[in-house]
Amino acid sequence: MSHIYDRLGVKRRINGAGSLTRLGGSLMDEAVLAAMRQAADAFVDIAELQTAAGAVIARHTGSEAGLVTSGAAAALTLAAAACLTRHDVARMERLPDTSGMANEIVIHRLHRTGYDHALRAAGARLVEIGFNDRGTGAGVRGLEAWEIEAAIGPGTVAVAYTASPAMQPPLATVAEVAARHGLPVIVDAAAQLPPKDNLRRFLAEGASLVAFSGGKAIRGPQGTGILCGRKDLVSAALIQQLDMDVSPETWNPPAGLLAPELKARFPHHGLGRGFKVDKESIVGLIVSLERFVEADLWRERRAKRDLLAGLAALLAGTRGVATTLDDGGARSPTLDIAFDEAALGLGAFEISRRLQRHDPPVHLGERAAHDGRLIVDPAGLRPGDEAIVAAALKAALANSKL
Ligand SMILES: *Cc1c(COP(=O)(O)O)cnc(C)c1O
Repeated sequence: MSHIYDRLGVKRRINGAGSLTRLGGSLMDEAVLAAMRQAADAFVDIAELQTAAGAVIARHTGSEAGLVTSGAAAALTLAAAACLTRHDVARMERLPDTSGMANEIVIHRLHRTGYDHALRAAGARLVEIGFNDRGTGAGVRGLEAWEIEAAIGPGTVAVAYTASPAMQPPLATVAEVAARHGLPVIVDAAAQLPPKDNLRRFLAEGASLVAFSGGKAIRGPQGTGILCGRKDLVSAALIQQLDMDVSPETWNPPAGLLAPELKARFPHHGLGRGFKVDKESIVGLIVSLERFVEADLWRERRAKRDLLAGLAALLAGTRGVATTLDDGGARSPTLDIAFDEAALGLGAFEISRRLQRHDPPVHLGERAAHDGRLIVDPAGLRPGDEAIVAAALKAALANSKL
């Protein structure tokens, strides 16, 4: 049988760029696919399935509650929705129209990303604070606790934080200020795995809600994510995600997440109705999460490191090319490939462009391309791919027609 991508006329690509949504996230294990196949074979109550999945997420994240979302970005939108409405059904009904109600999420300027659109999509207004003195070299100071405090007012519903290894100020500082004002902290930790400890770390440091991608290091279905944290907020997120075309008279919420008192003021479809997660994906995410938690990540790291060392060996002696293996610390190793633009007459962007036109197309990380380097992230590379990457690179350097 021909491969479905061949039948559709879609190229299969070599991914040395990491877990990227535009390249398909990650690849799933056979065990995950088998569980998804089983999930496709029966009807279930999605609320019951989400509640059961939430219990597994809670166990592995050390949170009160969890929810499978349609990606980390959707988790952020649902998190913002939950903070905007809590369990106020009339507010749920109005979203994303938040006029006249508390709707501000305080965020340090340096924590803003292209993904904070997801918070705004719920109807939240971002209140940006702080300077970037360290980044600009203008000075030594970062955000002070009082600056967060000063931005908090009657219109504030949450504080947002983007997690990354060296992020300032520390989450604990932000969480402490927020807690003093009874405000939840929403953490975008979409790509902060591995290390595995990060599943628990941000909640332990005081986050109220944390978003992870299911289709990155967890290697679940690409369209999944995790929202975990405080039970009242996860519950408010779930009720706004579920299909609510049910009769209050017969609604029988599974014990655990959903508050039976919602029956008295029964919500319609919420803001998250468009972010539904299918039963196959809920199951796939849960099995992937369990496998991620149990995996020997150090052994996987060593294998990835060996693959990168193999690629470096294949490139050794190539004119105008210098490689550096970065061990990656607690995160994944990467291979940095520097191109001597003067010697090659070619810059990193042009080389990357040619690689993407190779057969098969090869994708490498472009984060440092402005600096003449491409970065190989091995998360999506399979054994043997290093030879294809090396051959594609040599062809790209030699062939201006690509
Ligand atoms: C990938 C990413 C997201 C989006 O995650 P999805 O699971 O693709 O929705 C959000 N924030 C950050 C920082 C990310 O890296």
